[in-house]
Amino acid sequence: MALVTTKQLLLDAQKGGYAVGAFNVENMEMVQAVVAAAEELQSPVILQTTPSTVKYADLDFFYANAKVAAENASVPVAMHLDHGNSFELAMRALRVGYTSIMIDGSHDSFEENIAVTKAVVDACRPSHVPVEAELGKVGGKEDDLDGGEGGGYTVPSEAAEFVKATGIDSLAVAIGTAHGVYQGTPKLDVNRLSEIREVVSIPLVLHGTSGVPDDAVRECIKRGICKVNYATDLRIAFSNGVKEILDAAPDTIDPKKYNACGRKYVKEYVKGKMEVCNSVGKANRG
Ligand SMILES: [Zn+2]
Repeated sequence: MALVTTKQLLLDAQKGGYAVGAFNVENMEMVQAVVAAAEELQSPVILQTTPSTVKYADLDFFYANAKVAAENASVPVAMHLDHGNSFELAMRALRVGYTSIMIDGSHDSFEENIAVTKAVVDACRPSHVPVEAELGKVGGKEDDLDGGEGGGYTVPSEAAEFVKATGIDSLAVAIGTAHGVYQGTPKLDVNRLSEIREVVSIPLVLHGTSGVPDDAVRECIKRGICKVNYATDLRIAFSNGVKEILDAAPDTIDPKKYNACGRKYVKEYVKGKMEVCNSVGKANRG
């Protein structure tokens, strides 16, 4: 089917008490892997790309891959801009055809975050493309993102005010996760998540989930998370597949050979996370 927006996907997840996995893709094989996993498990799915990914190859390359993969699939697939870092990039993604957009003004002041987020929401509304924003700071380092040490957890009362002032469709919360690879096991402030849930009715999003124990993710879903982002672990899975082939046969010159192994590992990883999100078999809801 054609690419869908994340609007209904996340509202269905919220109603059904599960989450939709959002997986960062870096090349065609990763797009194929994620959508194949969704197809096999009859799960809705979100593909997403960061600003650094669309700097490597432009938005339209990734959009084209996602569009073809979605059209060849029977399950709903959305294409999301992850951590859109400017109004301009958000608008370019909208024009290219992305069906979901994040604007991340979390590193600006509260007022500036509201201003840029509201501007993106207003611009996206005529085309019914939903907008995700972030309040508080998800720590860690990934690509050009540097959340620093974290510690800027989302304040529930501010979250309520932010959602009301901007009209966003989903909110990424900072409750102790970080981007990149964790040193040790992250400790999540799940009570804070419940407090946010009490005052914010729109779907909530968990970032920096690679490396978070599956049980902690399940607990977050129980407390209101409807979209779970996985990025770092997909890179690791893909690279492990490539390395396995090149280590065993360093003379391999056909990229299809090692990329296929990367693709296989990404698909297996994604299937496991769809189980954690409890989105298996939820492709036909709504
Ligand atoms: Zn993130």
